Amino acid sequence: MAKILVTGGAGYIGSHTCIELLDAGYEVIVFDNLSNSSEESLNRVQDITQKSLTFVQGDIRNADELDRVFENHSIDAVIHFAGLKAVGESQEKPLIYFDNNIAGSIQLVKSMAKAKVYTLVFSSSAAIYDEDNISPLNEQMPTGIPSNNYGYTKLIVEQLLQKLSASNPEWSIALLRYFNPVGAHKSGRIGEDPQGIPNNLMPYVTQVAVGRREKLSIYGNDYDTVDGTGVRDYIHVVDLANAHLCALNNRLQSKGCRAWNIGTGNGSSVLQVKDTFEQVNGIPVAFEFVARRAGDVATSFADNSRAVAELGWQPQYGLEDMLKDSWNWQKQNPNGYN
Ligand code: NAD
Ligand code: UDP
Repeated sequence: MAKILVTGGAGYIGSHTCIELLDAGYEVIVFDNLSNSSEESLNRVQDITQKSLTFVQGDIRNADELDRVFENHSIDAVIHFAGLKAVGESQEKPLIYFDNNIAGSIQLVKSMAKAKVYTLVFSSSAAIYDEDNISPLNEQMPTGIPSNNYGYTKLIVEQLLQKLSASNPEWSIALLRYFNPVGAHKSGRIGEDPQGIPNNLMPYVTQVAVGRREKLSIYGNDYDTVDGTGVRDYIHVVDLANAHLCALNNRLQSKGCRAWNIGTGNGSSVLQVKDTFEQVNGIPVAFEFVARRAGDVATSFADNSRAVAELGWQPQYGLEDMLKDSWNWQKQNPNGYN
């Protein structure tokens, strides 16, 4: 069975993807500097699957460390999750984001080319679409300059990978444009474990529910949406993990660079998320409305028909499952992996 290098595999989406890879019989090598994760996630992945993986602690910006991994293991393909993702921090420390996300990705493809490994699945984001596009967003719609430096790094890396692939037909690259990943593995043993104050809606909601935060601030209630709050396409992390397997299988059989949206195709408002969370879990979530957050669009959801048609992928979980599973993880692990 093929050997897959998973950069950032100890993180939220990476750890869920490792489970799917191991269950499908792949050999997994995780390469992670643990800057935003804990090795405990990988212990639990191995417990859940009853299969072992190889962990190498290292940084994608370090050529020697990366080259050594390719020398020591005959890697067939790479799934590249490693990177920083905090939008606010990316505004304060742009160079750290350019270095980790852009320079790190360049170093990764340099090491891949050196080792003659040309199959890559890259974690991109719906943030790369021009904000004037009207949802549902499809892959042919124009990209724009994202309003924050984090999103900008995703756009730049997508463009670099497209140019790289155009320059050498050996490359086979999937750009997976994630919408809003939430939820956790059914076991509740692995999940999202943000450091500090969460930027994203879902971990904020679960931390209010578990008593770690006082109340949710809802950013704006005057958008042109069903109830005035922002609408997003929440996707269960297990469905997202599965999309990586489907993309990997597709890329192992064809060449070139291609983008796929990974979302459910359904939009939910912030109030719908909060209300549904309260209903399915029976826990109140205190909240207040505050001003809009700079850079937010009113509505963003996917046209996922390309992924469904070409990757043979189909999301299995709805919003209620996502919210139950997020809460199941949070209540079993009130302080994350700590
Ligand atoms: P995460 O922070 O949980 O995982 C990222 C992992 O990469 C962490 O384990 C971290 O320690 C590691 N890492 C960071 N910099 C590294 C470096 N220089 N060298 C080696 N390892 C490094 O984040 P996640 O939510 O699992 O996201 C995974 C990927 O998906 C990221 O690239 C992220 O930008 C992208 N993405 C995430 C979302 C989201 O909402 N979670 C949405 C769109 C795209
Ligand atoms: N949001 C909110 N309060 C929060 C975090 C997010 O009201 O504490 C809203 C945000 O304005 C957006 C939605 O929830 O409408 C999803 O935000 P998130 O940051 O999770 O994802 P993104 O903005 O990247 O789509």
